[in-house]
Amino acid sequence: MAMTAEIGLIGLGTMGAALALNIAENAALVAVWNRTTARTHAFHAEAGSLAPRIMPCDSLKALVAAIRPPRAIILMVPAGQPVDDQIAALTPYLAPDDLVIDAGNANFNDTNRRARAGLPFRFLGMGVSGGEDGARHGPAIMGGGAKADWDRVAPILTAIAAKYKGTPCADWMGPEGAGHFVKTVHNGIEYADMQMIAEVYGMMRDGFGLPAPAIATTFRRWNDGVLQSYLIEIAAGVSAATDPLTGASMLDVILDKAGQKGTGRWTAIEAQHLAAPIPVIEAAVAARNVSARLEERQAGEALYGPAPQHLPAAMITEADLESALTAGKILCYAQGFTMSGAAGPAFGWDLQLPAIARVWRAGCIIRSAMLDDMAQALSEDPARNLILAPHFAAHLKRTLPSLRRVVSAAALHGHALPALGAGLAWFDAMRTARGTANMIQAQRDFFGAHGFDRLDGRDNHHGPWAVRG
Ligand code: NDP
Repeated sequence: MAMTAEIGLIGLGTMGAALALNIAENAALVAVWNRTTARTHAFHAEAGSLAPRIMPCDSLKALVAAIRPPRAIILMVPAGQPVDDQIAALTPYLAPDDLVIDAGNANFNDTNRRARAGLPFRFLGMGVSGGEDGARHGPAIMGGGAKADWDRVAPILTAIAAKYKGTPCADWMGPEGAGHFVKTVHNGIEYADMQMIAEVYGMMRDGFGLPAPAIATTFRRWNDGVLQSYLIEIAAGVSAATDPLTGASMLDVILDKAGQKGTGRWTAIEAQHLAAPIPVIEAAVAARNVSARLEERQAGEALYGPAPQHLPAAMITEADLESALTAGKILCYAQGFTMSGAAGPAFGWDLQLPAIARVWRAGCIIRSAMLDDMAQALSEDPARNLILAPHFAAHLKRTLPSLRRVVSAAALHGHALPALGAGLAWFDAMRTARGTANMIQAQRDFFGAHGFDRLDGRDNHHGPWAVRG
């Protein structure tokens, strides 16, 4: 009898190839197809001992025929039109109970649209995080769609996922685009985490005058403490690397213009739709856009002089930077989870915040020691803002003075800290019971007769200002 694969995979690029090898090694016989057939054969030829568990197919028809029904097929192609095109090309071959899983970085609004489009087969949208290495050896997986469809493929997905102390970092997040939504928030947090690390790197480089290898040592030390995380680990790694061409530190030869594929921007846009305040993430997205405007920055420096100045001795310490980053990280995650909480009611999903934190504990780019504590705090009370959870309140009370010192020193000496600064401003606003929006309400009523609520509860909902602008 001919062999049949338990699952299929389309798109043998960086992520798809790694995922197919992972499936072959840890879960199931996998049939693969790629738009460029030569790549399919090259992939199979290079699969080594895993080759017998991979069935290379030269056509979509052959791919579908190679999989045991009801079929499951993972798409790992670029988000957007390629997914729609691939779905259209597959449709004639699929039966109603076959399942297509879009594992690329789809905009969750597209996944919602596809889920509601009445496709003639089952459909899941699935966020995958961890880059190529994660896809090969254990990514974090955030699934969205019908729970029964997730359950069908869960044995394979949990087998290939990263494990946190034995628990797979793969879970169903909710219906429709919930998985891709959670991946979007993940990527927004990733932007913010990276930006805050870049900000403290800048303070060490320009404020303390430290060379990259010394900064690497600091990051390495931080990675043994509360900041332990993949991104701090790689910050240490990239700071320690030497350019083979010049012998200089790698960081010193890399142009300071950040690229982006836009997932952080999606987070910021969706947060605005949801009226969820995520200023740290928004600042991080804006900072990438600022970084891209190199010529304007050069003109600015020529006109005004360079901004970052050496910091006076003992103004802030390396320990202050560690604490500031710790505080910033808590504030940023608190915002990300608040945004996730806002999505549930908005889309009719019941997103489980502790499950989100658990899935992020291993495999993904934002994995960190703190996420287990966040999962714990969120399971105590999912509706409570993380900054109000006793565990994180204790962290914040300890680290906030440092964040304040670092942001103040930066402002006085010309260091741009948009994300850390936004975190501090948000935190101060969030612990101010009597804010300043009374001024905004009065102005709105003045020019637009929008009315306002009174502190004393009386009925007078408009001001005495007779003249309106
Ligand atoms: P690559 O560019 O490495 O590979 C793209 C793959 O898609 C190739 O196999 C390519 O085939 C195929 N492809 C491209 N366009 C089409 C099309 N119009 N129709 C059919 N197939 C097409 O991309 P990645 O593997 O990096 O990314 C794949 C998805 O995974 C994206 O959505 C990405 O955002 C997401 N992702 C990527 C991560 C990463 O770290 N790289 C991390 C997490 C998610 P061909 O060989 O013919 O060109």
